[in-house]
Amino acid sequence: MNAVLELERVTKDYPGSPPVRALDGVTLSVSVGELVAVVGPSGSGKTTMLHVMGTLDRASSGTVRVTGLEAARMTDREVSALRAFRIGFVFQQFFLAEHQSVLANVTDGLLYAGIPRAERRRLAAVALERVGLAHRADARPTQLSGGQRQRVAIARAIAGRPPVVLADEPTGNLDAVNEEIVLRLLRELHQQGRTIVMVTHDPVVARLADRRIELHHGRIAAQEVFAMADEEQFDEVLEELWVMAEHGEIAELEHMEVHGALPVSIAVEKMTELGLVAAGPHPPERHVHRPFVNPCHDNLKPLGASTGDGSMIIEMTERGRKRAADVIRRHRLAERLFTDSLAMDSETEIEEQACKFEHILSPGATDKICAFLGHPRTCPHGAPIPPGECCGKNSEYEQLTNKLKGIQSAGPYSRDEMNER
Ligand code: ADP
Ligand code: MG
Repeated sequence: MNAVLELERVTKDYPGSPPVRALDGVTLSVSVGELVAVVGPSGSGKTTMLHVMGTLDRASSGTVRVTGLEAARMTDREVSALRAFRIGFVFQQFFLAEHQSVLANVTDGLLYAGIPRAERRRLAAVALERVGLAHRADARPTQLSGGQRQRVAIARAIAGRPPVVLADEPTGNLDAVNEEIVLRLLRELHQQGRTIVMVTHDPVVARLADRRIELHHGRIAAQEVFAMADEEQFDEVLEELWVMAEHGEIAELEHMEVHGALPVSIAVEKMTELGLVAAGPHPPERHVHRPFVNPCHDNLKPLGASTGDGSMIIEMTERGRKRAADVIRRHRLAERLFTDSLAMDSETEIEEQACKFEHILSPGATDKICAFLGHPRTCPHGAPIPPGECCGKNSEYEQLTNKLKGIQSAGPYSRDEMNER
């Protein structure tokens, strides 16, 4: 049994005249460990669906199963127990008791799970530690910022270690910094194998999920699985790493400017898991970043100095480097094609199109373009095009990647240029 949450032709009517059909035949199965984002306009039934799948509310018809147990066949008491042990809720309104300490708020969330008092306190302390608020355990919720309050609400939801977490717009009221903290927490829970369903308005937040479900008028109007968009962002990150290595620059996470659906730091985490890049701490020594222009993207790389103040250095692995070479090759060949053969003269247009082509050209098409252009060595801006097998110059490719590898693994402070600085 792989499904943790199952809805079969679920409807939910709210009484009234006329009654409101908030859910209209929703069938959905969420697997163990899945992170599902639910989007849709206001009033489309998102909160209702979360309440029904979390057994906070009963369906009018259809079947709801949580970890294989059918909610309609259970007594209220059994349903309460199911909720207490298996489901953690995170709401947009934090529902914290203002007159109680942060710790008491989290501890009380465990009351219904029948956990002994001492153990409740211990679990609550662990959960507060997890959300980075151990030091505020004695504060009142009113003394905390919105982001911190949301983190307390998350601590309360996860303190009992429920396998399922349901979150209703968990970042809805937060500023960018706290939004990232909360998303990071949800992602960590996801990585630990928890099943998460998260309602959100924000397409960027939704991109964190494995799957996105869109509700309209109480029905599932669209579903999307995200692997493809992730892959494109990984290509973008690799491209940036490649260009920085070409310029002898060490890539630091904080200095990377990669556009895409996910925050760069989360994209890099996923890429680390996939073995495309490796991250390590910045060495303590101060070193200087020389400004340079990335001719293909027309942006100026950061200038300034950095020290080992907790920032991370990102390096491509062998696999990442191979994939980066392919992306760069597609991009630069496309630029050549547009400039030389198609006589396009708008830099913006060429750049825009090349950025699309770099993701979609098949290896066969890439080699054909390369052969058609006579296996060019550089892009129109003079940057080298990694040769492909079609060029019969594999040794040249090796030379190029070895050179880049040398730059990366030498580290910022053992390089010759350091002496000149
Ligand atoms: P969403 O979370 O997508 O904004 P909701 O699930 O809150 O949507 O609401 C879906 C529909 O059900 C809306 O038309 C809303 O007005 C109605 N509704 C929600 N809760 C109640 C309720 N307790 N009583 C009556 N109608 C409700
Ligand atoms: Mg809602």
